[in-house]
Amino acid sequence: MLLPFPTIDRDAIYQPIRKKYQCTHPSTEVRKKIASNGNAMIRPQCMSCGKMTGTAIKRETLTQAAFAALPLWDDTISSRYWGGFSEELRCAETKAYAAALAEARANYDAYREGDRWRKKCALVMQRAAHVCEGCRTARATEVHHLTYEHCGDEFLWELVAICRSCHERYHGGKEPSPFGPPPITEDQEPPSDDELKEGEDVPW
Ligand SMILES: [Zn+2]
Ligand SMILES: [Zn+2]
Ligand SMILES: [Zn+2]
Repeated sequence: MLLPFPTIDRDAIYQPIRKKYQCTHPSTEVRKKIASNGNAMIRPQCMSCGKMTGTAIKRETLTQAAFAALPLWDDTISSRYWGGFSEELRCAETKAYAAALAEARANYDAYREGDRWRKKCALVMQRAAHVCEGCRTARATEVHHLTYEHCGDEFLWELVAICRSCHERYHGGKEPSPFGPPPITEDQEPPSDDELKEGEDVPW
């Protein structure tokens, strides 16, 4: 029986966080966003998530003074909000992976203490006549996995009998483990704002 590797269900982990970050735009403020060509878009901005909400307000409906008094668009609201979102995904994923890894390790340890593994080791040792297959000099004392592909149900050619010093040299002092590095959570792109259409509003 192959030993299960630690796996996590990303969608299930992300789902409640995605839901939490579905902003209902509880409070908005009318602001002006200036495009690179100098055009201004006047629109409500959500003070929670930073997204554009509602419909654009025509520049000509405002007095010069009212327009001047409008606060500028704040891009930091959105980066803070979506930065928090990404951070929560990362934390949840790290936590879920740690739990899955602990379970997989426990299974692996139980296997290594069991009869099936002991019998396999005895056959590998017998095949090597108890001489290290790394140096063919020292006495073999442990069994090394050439691959973890069939971990838990290894073919005997995937295992070699080796001495402590060869084993230490091979793994560079690190604890041999069938489990690779943890997954990397990618930064999530915030949903895109409507593009600021050029020429839609009167330059200011
Ligand atoms: Zn919002
Ligand atoms: Zn050796
Ligand atoms: Zn090894």
